[in-house]
Amino acid sequence: MRTPPKRLEDQPLFHITSVNVQTVYFDGNVDFEIRGAFDRTHGVHEGHGWLLLPQRESLVGDLKFLDHHAKSALFLTAERAIPNLKNSSVPYLSGRWKPYHVWMVIEPGWVWNRMLFNRGWSDERCDICRERIKSGEYGFVDRGGHKICERCYGQYVATHDLSFIDQL
Ligand SMILES: [Zn+2]
Repeated sequence: MRTPPKRLEDQPLFHITSVNVQTVYFDGNVDFEIRGAFDRTHGVHEGHGWLLLPQRESLVGDLKFLDHHAKSALFLTAERAIPNLKNSSVPYLSGRWKPYHVWMVIEPGWVWNRMLFNRGWSDERCDICRERIKSGEYGFVDRGGHKICERCYGQYVATHDLSFIDQL
């Protein structure tokens, strides 16, 4: 039996308990210190990572665990401004991926064109599995120029399945 597709709500969730301004810079950038706790720590890594916000927004930052047992952590991000996130729970994404990998897989309205990759495309790699899409093979291209091999399209994009985050 096939395991059910992984949805965005199946990602580790970070429940934010406080957001504090650490440093305000002359150029208008601000270092924010976001504190909270994860619902689970499997798949969460210290260091470079993302918090995914509604409307395809995201915060990039540095994650540090405070207490592994309590699953509490600190997320440092530099932005000009951030929305009011206190008491909200937001999905976490490892720095191995970028938020567009999530959006392009989960959004049903994301436009993909199936194309035959010819010689001009010969060095293109799939944005999900990173394998080369060879000349003479079919693949999928979105409006931003992201390319997906036919196998990843069938396995992840067509089913809106985020399990590649843990599998690849
Ligand atoms: Zn692929």
